Amino acid sequence: MNSPMIRISFSARASSPIAAPDSLPTADSRSNAASTIDSRRSRESRNWSFALLSWLETASLPVVELDSPAMVRRVLDSLCVRLDGKPAAASTVQRKRATFYNVLGYAVELELIASNPVDRVQWTAPEVAQSIDRRVVANPTQVATLLEAVKSLGKRADKVTAFFGCLYYAGMRPSEAADLWREDCDLAGRCADCGADFDDLAAVKPSRSCEHEKIEYLWGRLVLAGTSSRAGSHWTDDGGPHERRGLKHRGRAETRMVPIPPRLVELLCAHVENHGVGPDGRFFRGLHGGPLSESVYDRWWKLAREKALTESQAASPLVRRPYDLRHAAASLWLNAGVPPTEVARRLGHGVAVLLRVYANCIDGGDDTMNDKIGDALA
Ligand SMILES: [Zn+2]
Repeated sequence: MNSPMIRISFSARASSPIAAPDSLPTADSRSNAASTIDSRRSRESRNWSFALLSWLETASLPVVELDSPAMVRRVLDSLCVRLDGKPAAASTVQRKRATFYNVLGYAVELELIASNPVDRVQWTAPEVAQSIDRRVVANPTQVATLLEAVKSLGKRADKVTAFFGCLYYAGMRPSEAADLWREDCDLAGRCADCGADFDDLAAVKPSRSCEHEKIEYLWGRLVLAGTSSRAGSHWTDDGGPHERRGLKHRGRAETRMVPIPPRLVELLCAHVENHGVGPDGRFFRGLHGGPLSESVYDRWWKLAREKALTESQAASPLVRRPYDLRHAAASLWLNAGVPPTEVARRLGHGVAVLLRVYANCIDGGDDTMNDKIGDALA
């Protein structure tokens, strides 16, 4: 393949082994209806792929044409606009620019162009906002109302009530909560009748003298795997998650212990009682028993917001995304006077990042601060 023919969409070269629609096998040789349908589907899907690849080829530029700063600038500028013409988010632009840069880097490696043309253009991606917009931060009452709304949407929605509870009451990332396991949790409580303390409420059995029916929930804790996201670990086949999980407090290189308030202990106990946990011990599952996906919990969250918030609140950025619950948690803890070092530890990131991100969310409390400084000056 000579360089002038190579196009930026590397997979759509003219010599790719793609059959034209009329050369695809027909369904004539198939005898039953099911296989005819299968065959039609596969033919349609191949026709569609062919159309897509043809479009890609006609809509793509030969790589050599990108060896011009003016053209590269045009491409970079177009990365800043969404399909609907509105400006793209800064983080999206940065991600697309990185991909574009790497594609051209690959073209350099293939010796199609001499150097990466992006390096020759004076163009900077828009800054990604580092701090949280405090309008997204909900207060405890608003969060409680939203969680009630999720629950009221029905049994399927209620399977993620405790998931949202984890984001707020434990400040977890959605990816961490989606990967929460039964054995990560110490769900503590006490029997209000007989006074017995329990480390793990889900394992409580009635005794001879007491049914332990009136449970008072206490602070429990979660033991999470360090700061790195474990999302995706269940896709691996390196011995399976069971084995790894068996080493809870001993074998993991890095764990993060997060105390959880009685309200979250209650939510997690209710989840175990009403929905159970997966056969592998995972709390939250997707539609077909697989990992809980963003699209599933996002959908319930949207419905809950519509139900629980006023029209103007629903139109505002207030907890628009489930991730904003984690922001609300961080903001609550900092404003409650928990030292930033401890807040950062529980959230699983560094203090510098924490203060940069949440500086806007810390209420001034100017009078209190002034009093403190005044006292020190006196
Ligand atoms: Zn009891």
